[in-house]
Amino acid sequence: MGWGGRLACALTVLLVMACAPPEQSVSGAEAGSASADETVHHWKLITTWPKNLPALGTAPERLADMVDTMSRGRLKIKVYGAGELVPAFEVFDAVSSGTAEMGHGAAYYWRGKIPIAAIFSTVPFGLTAQEMNAWLHHGGGMELWRELYEPFGLIPMASGNTGVQMAGWFNREINSIDDIQGLKMRIPGLGGEVFQRAGGVAVALPGGEIFTALQTGIIDATEWVGPYNDRAFGLHTIAKYYYYPGWHEPGATLEAIVNTQAFEALSPDLRRILEVASRAINQDMLDELTAKNSLALKDLMETHGVELRRLPDDVIARLKEISREVVAEAAGEDELSQRIYRSFEAFRENVVSYHEISEKAYINAR
Ligand code: CA
Repeated sequence: MGWGGRLACALTVLLVMACAPPEQSVSGAEAGSASADETVHHWKLITTWPKNLPALGTAPERLADMVDTMSRGRLKIKVYGAGELVPAFEVFDAVSSGTAEMGHGAAYYWRGKIPIAAIFSTVPFGLTAQEMNAWLHHGGGMELWRELYEPFGLIPMASGNTGVQMAGWFNREINSIDDIQGLKMRIPGLGGEVFQRAGGVAVALPGGEIFTALQTGIIDATEWVGPYNDRAFGLHTIAKYYYYPGWHEPGATLEAIVNTQAFEALSPDLRRILEVASRAINQDMLDELTAKNSLALKDLMETHGVELRRLPDDVIARLKEISREVVAEAAGEDELSQRIYRSFEAFRENVVSYHEISEKAYINAR
């Protein structure tokens, strides 16, 4: 049994233990009413990732596998890579219109349509994975995210987190803010807007197009995720310097989006299974990347001769200054966007001061 299968079984056991009365007390009629809906649903899940890309692309596959086991085959989800049914950046519209029942991507890809959506993937100099999960699941963030997507007939779920990313791949050293003037870099979300205002040229490209764009000079630099994912794209074969820290994506949440009508057509247990599986995948991706990034970085440096560089303090300071303005502007004028921004900012302020004396103090001390 594969990993997804094992976790699915464990989760199924937990769910059964948590929800079901003891087996012997279930009469035929009760058993019938509890599982009356044996309808088998066949769903399409479209993604913004190349098929089976490590972690980002395997997450929806694992989710589908887990849901299949937990639902006893009543919810079958077939996963399509970017471009198989629709191009990467059309996932939101395709799930909204019902072309597919489900999608997997990142909220900042839709910021052209909904500027504030970017907050639900990541904010430059914003929350870490741990903090983002806390805001979403215990700080009011998820309720706001659902409210934001409601008019599009979509239900969002957190479904993966990359942890702190790398600043990216460059073929020239970045010694001052002047070195990014005119530099064409693939960098999405609010980070891209910050980069643009700092004098660079931000280019939006789905993951599957990055390698060729950098190789052919369409872009001069790129970020993607971190060592494990970046190595899978071969970015180390076409760029020399690997910069940190990923100021622009300190804990990017990936999203699962579900067509509201399709979701509502599910029985309550299937809805819950989908939510629990998504939450499990959300944590699992972070766990996997935390385990594999450190090994991949070592390999990139020792086997492939990649040169690791830290962005200079004054460059970071300037990017941070611009980030504050960009995030505030993304909140715009409308009432919901303002509420989302205020919720995020209030949470950030509190959690950052607590983490000063907890996570950060410990990391500095060990
Ligand atoms: Ca990234």
